[in-house]
Amino acid sequence: MWEVVGHDRAVENLRNAISSGRLPHALLFCGQVGVGKTRLALELAKALNCTGAEPPCQQCVHCRQIESGGHPDVTVAEALEGKDSISIAQVRELRDGAALRPFQASFKVIIIAGAESLTPQAADALLKTLEEPQRQVRIVLTATEPEALPSTVVSRCRVINLLPATPEVIEQALVARGESAEQAAVVSQLARGSVGWAIEASRHPKVIAERAEIIERMSTVFELDLASRIDLAERMTSERRDRSWVRRNLQLLVYLTRDLLLIQTGLQPALAQGVGRANLERAAARYSLPQVEESLEAMRLVMDRVDSNVDPRLALEAMLISLP
Ligand SMILES: [Zn+2]
Repeated sequence: MWEVVGHDRAVENLRNAISSGRLPHALLFCGQVGVGKTRLALELAKALNCTGAEPPCQQCVHCRQIESGGHPDVTVAEALEGKDSISIAQVRELRDGAALRPFQASFKVIIIAGAESLTPQAADALLKTLEEPQRQVRIVLTATEPEALPSTVVSRCRVINLLPATPEVIEQALVARGESAEQAAVVSQLARGSVGWAIEASRHPKVIAERAEIIERMSTVFELDLASRIDLAERMTSERRDRSWVRRNLQLLVYLTRDLLLIQTGLQPALAQGVGRANLERAAARYSLPQVEESLEAMRLVMDRVDSNVDPRLALEAMLISLP
């Protein structure tokens, strides 16, 4: 069984492609942070190499080695710790590996997680491999912001878009993992479509409290004066300044702003347990619909900029200042 939450259609398509022998050489999985892109890529690697009756069986030596990260033919590459980009040296190593046949499995699978972090030179170095890999090699790129990838890379891949999981799907998955119904309800609402976050949060209650606090703090942003907004950007990025963290929090802010729109149009926002609701209701009364729509646009722009080489704190600051 494929161990992914949601994404039934993507799984179905991949399964059919494998059984008909028509799985493309290069794939690009797109979707928001925590939606399960790398998870799906790993399950694909298992399905390609599994020796059990119903791939992926999760039991055979290939499935287990891939799960533990110790399979010699399955590589997950991403920006190195403390670095914002995937270097050309990393890609050269992958490229050399991709030129060789698998050691012990049927297929070698190379997963490049967060492919928008490829430097332009690294992306260039990857092109030929994407175009003509070894017959027994599959390359899977994952990206949160595929627009940030060179078109030459995207055009060589089969693109699969993964939509955020609904709270109901996440809730069911958590209950199936043994969480209490009460805990699963709270976590699935705070998860905002991110299964990865939900699983992590149910293991660490501190993560839940932290997110509730961030949402509460962010929901005040529409009421802050300029100096307080700059101060907020500073505090949000003082401990961690890496892109993925800033991007994740920007995503939360986008969700909150959508909630604000929902309140303005008389619909039910998705806020969990009413976290931040009072703040958003005050903001909804104060701002016009076009103003909020403009803010959403500004946030999307900043998210793009965070993916290119702009200092995340500066990008965040500029966005907060631009809000009405
Ligand atoms: Zn297996």
